[in-house]
Amino acid sequence: MSVTPTPEQQAIADYPLRPLRVTAGAGTGKTTTMALRLAALIRREGIAPEEALGITFTNKAAEELADRLRLHLHELAAEGRQVEVTTYHGFAYGLLAEFGSLLGGERGVGVVTPGYARQLLREALGAGPRLALDLTSPGARVDELAGLAGRLGDHLLAPGDLLREGATDGDEVAARRAEMAAALAAYAERKQELGLVDYADLIARGHRLLSGHPEVAERLRARYRVVLLDEYQDTNPAQRELLRLIFGAGFPVTAVGDPDQTIYEWRGASLENFAAFPNHFPEEDGTPAATLTLSYNRRSSSRVVELANLVRARIGRRSDLDRLRPLPDAPPGDLEAAWFHNAVDEAAFIARRLVELHDSGETAWRDIGVLFRRHREIGLVRQALEQQAIPVEVASLGGLLEVPEVADLHAWLSIIGRPDDDASLMRVLLGAHYRLGLGDLAPLAAWRLRPRPPEDEPALRRAMLEAFDHLDECSGLSTEATGRLERFRGTHRRLLEEAQGTSLVELCRRVLDATGAWPEIEALGDAARLSARLNLYRFLDLAEAWSPLEGAPSLDAFLDYLELLAADGAADELDTARVSGEDAVVLLTVHRAKGLEWPVVVLPALCQGTFPGEAHTLEDPLAHPQFLPDHLRLDRDWLPDLPDDAGERKEIVRQRHQDQEWRTAYVAVTRAKRHLVLTGAFWYGGKKPKEPGPLLALAMQAGARQAAAAVDPGLAPETLRLDPGTGDPDPFFPAGWRAALRAAVADPTFPARLAEETGSTANFVAAAARLAGLLKGLPEALPDLAGTAPFRTTVTGLVTFASCPLRFHWSAVDRLPRHPAPQLRHGIELHRRIELHNRGGLPLEEAEEALYDFAAGEGHGSAGDPFAAFRASRFAARPPLLVETPFELAIGETRVAGRIDAVYEDPDGAWEVVDFKSGRLRLDPARRVQLEAYAVALAEAGFTEPAPTRTRVTFAYLGGGRLQEAGEEVTEAWLDDARRHLADLATRAAAGERRATPGESCLDCDFARFCPDGSAWLAAHPG
Ligand code: SF4
Repeated sequence: MSVTPTPEQQAIADYPLRPLRVTAGAGTGKTTTMALRLAALIRREGIAPEEALGITFTNKAAEELADRLRLHLHELAAEGRQVEVTTYHGFAYGLLAEFGSLLGGERGVGVVTPGYARQLLREALGAGPRLALDLTSPGARVDELAGLAGRLGDHLLAPGDLLREGATDGDEVAARRAEMAAALAAYAERKQELGLVDYADLIARGHRLLSGHPEVAERLRARYRVVLLDEYQDTNPAQRELLRLIFGAGFPVTAVGDPDQTIYEWRGASLENFAAFPNHFPEEDGTPAATLTLSYNRRSSSRVVELANLVRARIGRRSDLDRLRPLPDAPPGDLEAAWFHNAVDEAAFIARRLVELHDSGETAWRDIGVLFRRHREIGLVRQALEQQAIPVEVASLGGLLEVPEVADLHAWLSIIGRPDDDASLMRVLLGAHYRLGLGDLAPLAAWRLRPRPPEDEPALRRAMLEAFDHLDECSGLSTEATGRLERFRGTHRRLLEEAQGTSLVELCRRVLDATGAWPEIEALGDAARLSARLNLYRFLDLAEAWSPLEGAPSLDAFLDYLELLAADGAADELDTARVSGEDAVVLLTVHRAKGLEWPVVVLPALCQGTFPGEAHTLEDPLAHPQFLPDHLRLDRDWLPDLPDDAGERKEIVRQRHQDQEWRTAYVAVTRAKRHLVLTGAFWYGGKKPKEPGPLLALAMQAGARQAAAAVDPGLAPETLRLDPGTGDPDPFFPAGWRAALRAAVADPTFPARLAEETGSTANFVAAAARLAGLLKGLPEALPDLAGTAPFRTTVTGLVTFASCPLRFHWSAVDRLPRHPAPQLRHGIELHRRIELHNRGGLPLEEAEEALYDFAAGEGHGSAGDPFAAFRASRFAARPPLLVETPFELAIGETRVAGRIDAVYEDPDGAWEVVDFKSGRLRLDPARRVQLEAYAVALAEAGFTEPAPTRTRVTFAYLGGGRLQEAGEEVTEAWLDDARRHLADLATRAAAGERRATPGESCLDCDFARFCPDGSAWLAAHPG
């Protein structure tokens, strides 16, 4: 071997055969040092290689350590003698395989993959009534459940330990945690039936075995004479306790790690393990074990090391390492910082810079890693690199799903597994393979909206895919479009059949074959072809790994899993980075990059709140049921006390999170060998510009060169799409497209005038003529369904019409774009939760988006948790007679569709129709239309036999922290008035009335900015 050990490495190799902790800073040659120590002990102490054991975290790390040991002990390796190297889980698995029979029938267990474990968890969650848990987002609930399952295992706990905790009345978090524990108990039973264990079970069972059978530990101590524990900072308390049972009393254990690189605290790693190692694994006489350090960074240039030290200083609870030192002969290297106006400029800069570095001849593509804190930032940079013909390998799964070839395959899987996924269907049909246009699909969309025959299930919406069984009924299809649609139908049907009993990976391959993906990829240029291949192979690996040990894999569960991967955070937990070694720039998240290194590293999106980032969910067990109460944790003495005051508590857990973010930043910076590029920008979307993050400031402090420094955030860019021309101001639309569109809506003569002003009238006239020709060429307007097509609207539509006919016209007839309103989402979410409560928990499969009568502004003024107000209300404990019941009313020639939230029956046979609102009590005459429609529907729609003795209609407002009601008794005279009022509104709406009636509804109207009447009313009523 040609390695010349530093004095620090030599001291560790020479340390006697006693317990030892090694604090190894980033890039200090930890693996080499471990190999040196083991080799030295084997030679010095006469230990046979078979009497040494190395344990590390991943299979990849185990292979690396074994390789390094073979190099250092090459004479012994040549004789076929080598040190046993395994992983922490592999060690526990080996224990059970060898001694499991002592626990009774535990030998030969199968280990469930994380993907299949999620499938089982999903089944367990949907198996029982879950009243406290919100099951309307099954992917998120399964994720939380998987997190709680892992945390129980990390602390040697079982679901029963949580169930015994109980829940006091009104403690919603504890109630949800108890339901999660019940689901985990069902999950445990199911694993038992299948003869499976998960990773947490392996450690727990190993611990049980050793606790009940000390003779097993005795035999292991006799088998090994020295043990090395690698990456010890990432171990959890359960692993530590298992190891202590064997090697805790003076055994010569060497633990190596770097607490400053503990970035997996959220998945179980305990800072206490490394910090308290000297006491957990003391000398034979009980004195704490010694500590030696590795502080010379052998990887990075001196400027990178300097920056790493500045970052490390920001970690609150850091290691006792003095400071990371560069090697005396380390090159200075290059630090570069750049700040841009927007993410597009930033991505374009990164691409240009990488081309320069590559073209200089010193840097191969594979020498470059671009590391992101969140995978959602990967897409734009990937596109910019692809535009410059740079081969890329997306090694983080979250970013992988956005790669076009992978997104197409994902869309096909979705169509096969979820026939109602219209978005995926549109992606496939409009994509390069079928090349259909929106005009081609209009007849299908129209077929979908046709009324169903009465014998069909009542439903307001059909899946677009259904239209493919009725292509002959879709009038207006061109011959060419029909041919392509039939081709799609044939492929889809064949794949549907083949999906039965086929493994996921095989199904993926068949989709790729059937859609001609491979020949298309072959036709790409070199860089794009390599990128597409690498990324598709990575996805196929994922599908392969998903296949369960038993039974057919559920495509639906796999699709759930992909959804989860698309969410930041979860992907880091589920993902494993595999870098192919091909000559491509690697794009991945920092968490995936741990243990890897590149000569050139780029860190984009270094903004305030992004990196170091804010937590999505702070680890507060009093606020979130997926976290364990501190008193149950094995490392409770190490944790700061959590006060009852929510604000103080938040500060403590936020600080913990910030420490972890700075450790992640430390890992990111120390991946670079010679050149580190740090970038960011003001605009990544959103309404407010970002500020430069503290990492950029530290880089400048460390002497970074400033490659670009935008100073004025100016206005938000209209789009954040890559377009080589977007940097130049548009000479025709100097104020931007959006402003021009607004001007054209307000004044239809504006485009012609603008053309004249800019001297482009001829072009304008030609373009207008071309557009007119195109419009003419569109399929004929749909037939009038035998001339009887009624005017259709919804109850919400009528409410809108009652408030302002012009608003109705713009939102339902001649639709204009509207802002997504968060309060609408909250309202829908509340309705879902109430529906689930009323139904006693829906099977997960049914928890899909439904149509709710929900007018804009309903969530206005909500305070507190409206669902909590519902649960405290008189309705929570009453089983409703009808829940979320759809109806369609015939009012003259108009059809009005709606949905009643709930109908309750009193003991005397009186009915109460209730509409829940997430906002505060608001007396708006237009809203009354809703009550009128429900009462008339109840009387006429045919589901009220026998008729109620009395009827009452009630608005239940839940947004003020408690129930507030507004209701009316329904009498015959009331009903007659209601019918007249509804008929008047429906007739006027059908006649196309679009009169503006400004008033309070302008306050939350999306169109107020360009509606002259609305703007005038708002100006006259400030505040
Ligand atoms: S701004 Fe007011 S007047 Fe104008 S469309 Fe909206 S609600 Fe009607």
